[in-house]
Amino acid sequence: MTIKVRVRFAPSPTGGLHLGGVRTVLYNYLFAKKHGGDFILRIEDTDQTRFVEGAEKYIFDCLKWCGLEPDESPLHGGPCQPYRQSERKPTYLQYALQLIEQGNAYYAFDTPEELEKMRSDYKTAENPSPQYDARIRMKMSNSLTLPAQKVKELIDAGTRYVIRIKMPENETIRFDDLIHHEVSFDSGLVDDKVLLKADGMPTYHLAVVVDDYLMGITHAFRGEEWLSSAPVHILLWKYLFGLGNMPQWAHLPLILGPSGKLSKRDGAKYGFPVFAMNWTDPRSNEFTEGFKEKGFLPEAFINLLAMLGWNSGTEQEIFTKEELIKNFSIERVHKSGAKFDFEKAKWFNQEWIKKLPVTNYADSVKELFAAKNIPLKDDTYFIEVLELVKDRCALLTDFIEQAGYFFQAPAELDAASVMPKWNESKKEFFDQYCQDLEQLNEWDVSSIESLFKNLATEKNIKPGELQLPLRIMLVGGKFGPAVFEIAGMIGKVATIERINKGLSIFTQ
Ligand code: GLU
Repeated sequence: MTIKVRVRFAPSPTGGLHLGGVRTVLYNYLFAKKHGGDFILRIEDTDQTRFVEGAEKYIFDCLKWCGLEPDESPLHGGPCQPYRQSERKPTYLQYALQLIEQGNAYYAFDTPEELEKMRSDYKTAENPSPQYDARIRMKMSNSLTLPAQKVKELIDAGTRYVIRIKMPENETIRFDDLIHHEVSFDSGLVDDKVLLKADGMPTYHLAVVVDDYLMGITHAFRGEEWLSSAPVHILLWKYLFGLGNMPQWAHLPLILGPSGKLSKRDGAKYGFPVFAMNWTDPRSNEFTEGFKEKGFLPEAFINLLAMLGWNSGTEQEIFTKEELIKNFSIERVHKSGAKFDFEKAKWFNQEWIKKLPVTNYADSVKELFAAKNIPLKDDTYFIEVLELVKDRCALLTDFIEQAGYFFQAPAELDAASVMPKWNESKKEFFDQYCQDLEQLNEWDVSSIESLFKNLATEKNIKPGELQLPLRIMLVGGKFGPAVFEIAGMIGKVATIERINKGLSIFTQ
């Protein structure tokens, strides 16, 4: 019997979703879809002190925008609900008690002051930050050091306690990671992590293992930053459910900035979230603008994320989501960190702007225009303009500059590019050209162009000398498609108005 693939993304709702998080979602999603499996989203909100209002909704909105919606989640429901750990609180206690029963965990009654004292009392040169582990545990107040009767009394009296894992002293914990292959840890280096807190809530370590088991998770893909927690999870699997039932682990490489690890500081520049956040991210006040606001298309965003740490083994770089599903394989995920390069990210977006029909993103561009108070004409005209300039845009926000002048006269003209070579005969040319345009019955590109060229010949001026001023008058700067095509699009009235405005600026 083949077991259905079930993977999960398990964020803690503590802030926005950044590059690395979405890439974890993506690899989970691609793997699930490739194998006809399920993608589960579980909210790991057991640490109430780090809870951020709105963060869960933000995660859902991001996944929706990226087109990576889960099959099961607090929002979508499913056979293993609830999918929010805070709502599963009663589930975890029995597992913590089972561990105590088996001798793999114990009650600890130490107060915060006692823990503080332990950290200073046992501090030595060779152990500068003592932790609650095999070396220390027998000196503390717990069910390993206190008589059973005393433990019972304390619990019955309602004394606050936590449940800690009892890490074995000299064990090598090994497991096979799909990316790092054989990984091993010395159990003695890991502290006796708290599994159940004084408020009865499990910590992440217990909850992640219990829920992966109860939800039938077959593969657990998560960021490499969790690799150091893996030994605790492996032991919990061994003690509670047997290693045979454990999911296969894949710890995904870090995403690096241009100068190494993607730091918080780089974050504002390179690790920006998917969208702007409407709360203050506790990790940094600077993270306000996201990929969406920067003008990325979701298709490009997932494509570039897929390539951050994975390669298809071919030269192909542009992949649709369906192609990614077909081609994705965890064996091709690199072990070393993947460098995020903003210029390359823009390249992906540019390719996607070219590739997709403009109708796919016209509404997003409309929103950008509305935010800049650029007036809109009818839809047919709007789409025609987008078609005309799309090859010049790397980000959707580039449409503001590249298409805005089709809807309103440029606010400023790059006069400095014209003035040095401006003269009276050019002014006369444009005066005459306006009069000729006025007489034109058919406003079509070829008539606009031949009128211009014939008049230039008549006045004995090279047309090339006149086209730049015309472009600056119509567009504002030295960019855009063929200038006569622009005149054709904006119409007779706007063309003549803009030429006259330009003349008044250049002729002072
Ligand atoms: N709750 C963890 C996080 O916030 C999940 C880690 C895991 O996938 O095991 O990233």
